[in-house]
Formats: sequence, C-alpha cells, structure tokens
Amino acid sequence: MRLMVVGGAGYIGSHTVRQLRAAGHEVVVFDNLSSGHAQALPEGVPLVQADLLDAASVKAALEAHRPDAVIQFAALIEVGESMRAPGRYYRNNVVGSLNLLQGIVETRKVPLVFSSTAAVYGTTDNVPIPENAPLHPESVYGETKLMTENMIHAFHVAHGLPYTILRYFNVCGAAPGGDIGEAHPNKTHLIELACLTALGQREKMMIFGDDYPTPDGTCIRDYIHVQDLADAHVLAVNAMAGGKADAATYNVGLGHGFSVRQVLDAVDAVITEDGLPPLTREIAPRRPGDPPRLVADAHRIVDELGFQPQFTDLKEIVRTAWDWHRKHPHDFER
Ligand code: UDP
Repeated sequence: MRLMVVGGAGYIGSHTVRQLRAAGHEVVVFDNLSSGHAQALPEGVPLVQADLLDAASVKAALEAHRPDAVIQFAALIEVGESMRAPGRYYRNNVVGSLNLLQGIVETRKVPLVFSSTAAVYGTTDNVPIPENAPLHPESVYGETKLMTENMIHAFHVAHGLPYTILRYFNVCGAAPGGDIGEAHPNKTHLIELACLTALGQREKMMIFGDDYPTPDGTCIRDYIHVQDLADAHVLAVNAMAGGKADAATYNVGLGHGFSVRQVLDAVDAVITEDGLPPLTREIAPRRPGDPPRLVADAHRIVDELGFQPQFTDLKEIVRTAWDWHRKHPHDFER
C-alpha cells in the first residue's frame, strides 16, 4: 500500500515510517518540520513540507500522491503549553485535522489512522482503563484530541470514512541501534530526562511526589515502546486494508505499569553498566495534574489486531532510549 504519514518526521511518526517500510509499504511524509526532523526519515522517502493549516496544500498533496490510507500524527503535544496557549492548540490540532479530514473526503475517502492519547480519559479510578471508560480530558491538549476523535467519528457517519483511533499511553524508547529517537524541543518525559541527566546535562532527577497511594509512593505509568507503537499502526493499516476494521478505537499500552522509582532504577542499571554513577535523585512536590496510576486495559488491540509488544522488559526499553541519547546527546544537531 501507499501511505501518507502526516507528521512523519516526528518521534512516533519517524519510527512508524520505518516499520511501514519494513512491512513492504510505500510511504510519503507530510510534515511542516515545526518539531520534526528531516534527518529522521529513511533515504528515499518523499517529504511534502507543508502545513495542515494550509487546506489547499493538504488537498494538493492527497491528489498528487494518491495514498491508499493516511496516518495522522501531526499535533502540538505539551500539556502545560496547551493551558497557556489554548488558541494555538485548538487551531493546530483541531483545525489542522479538520483540513485533513475534509481533504480526504473530497479526494479519495481512504482510511485514516489517528494518534490519540490516554489524556482523553482524565483522572479515573477505573484502572486498567478500558476504551469505553468515560472521557473527560483535563487539559486543552487532551480536549483537542477528544474533539478530533469526535470529528473523525462524525465524518465516518456522514461520509463512510473508515478510521482507527489509537490512544497511546506513555511512549518511550528508541529504535534499537540508536539512530532515531525522542527529540522534542522541550524535555519533560521521565526516561528522556533521566538519560540527559546521566549525560551530565542536568544535575539530578526530581521525583515528583513520593506520597501517592502506590506501593512505593511514586506514580505508575504504562510505558509502551515506540517501535511496538509503530507496529500497532502497521496492524491498524493492514486491518483496514483488509476491510476488517472501519470504526475502531484501541488503547496502546502494555497493560501493566512501572513506578517512577522502578524507571529510575532501570536507568541506573543501564548507565552503571556503562561505567557511569547512578543518578542523583531528589524528592520534589507532586506535579499538578498527575494521576497516581495510568495503565491501559490493552486487551482489545491484542484480541482484535493481534498486537504483541516485543519490548516488555523495562531495562531493555530504557537501554534503547539510552543508546539513542548517548549517540545523539543534542538530538539531531550532532
Ligand atoms: N516524572 C518525575 N520526574 C521527572 C519527570 C517525570 O517524577 O523529571 C514523573 C511524572 O510526575 C509522572 C511520570 O514521571 O508521574 C511520567 O511522566 P512523563 O512526563 O514522562 O509522562 P506523563 O505521564 O506526564 O505523560
């Protein structure tokens, strides 16, 4: 198949482009490179450098490249920033996706795979969280993802647009080999920060709260490896091509979680093997908005698409992130 991967130069997008090609698909990337990196793309992948907010470019790209399916990753993704600049988030994430939907139904009406997030659930006691849990996002970011989910569903009802929505839990790690990986301009994610701290770019790791109602007092998250997540997209595309799924929503996670302390222990295990000292840790106040435990009920994607994550060992997950950051301490700059 020929896939158009919107936002394909970003962290999850670039890993997905790679896995799609490995599965024998042809790929064209549409990306404005606002936070993505052309260097993250394999050689020979055409890049349309354009913005989803430019509806004419979106339509022209769909007409020129005639994809059999579209995967939509392009979005602003920072929760804190979304609260300070809601207009940017609603415009980029909602209007951008609307232009894409409109373009698709006006040209080829091909299936769409959409990147959503566990943030659509908000805080819940219903853990592990099933896909039919109530949706009440607590940030503008989460709200833009939920609004887009709703738009996609409305286009399905009105125009027959087939779709698969994937709700990601905590995405982490990097392709083994360390040539592509997480490279956001602002660093907030636990494993990435821990690796950069090990490289001496920060003095110590802060643990945001050790008085949560969890076994070791720190927050628990469901860490899904980016390459497994990329494979989930390949499965979704293949299922839709076979007419198997035409309006499906799946959580993508391991179905079990690790605490902040367990993650930092794994980072220590990996870096001390490379001769570095363990990280200095400090207990800091809770970070506002952090629920104690966010874990996916991941049965649906396993049962329906045959999803089988390969990276289930925390140390192995961390090792892939560490290899990327060690080889690229300043992302794609050096
Ligand atoms: N966290 C932490 N110290 C850090 C960064 C994150 O203790 O320097 C915690 C954070 O409070 C959360 C977990 O690690 O409980 C995962 O945070 P991250 O930002 O990676 O992902 P989120 O769950 O917010 O999407």
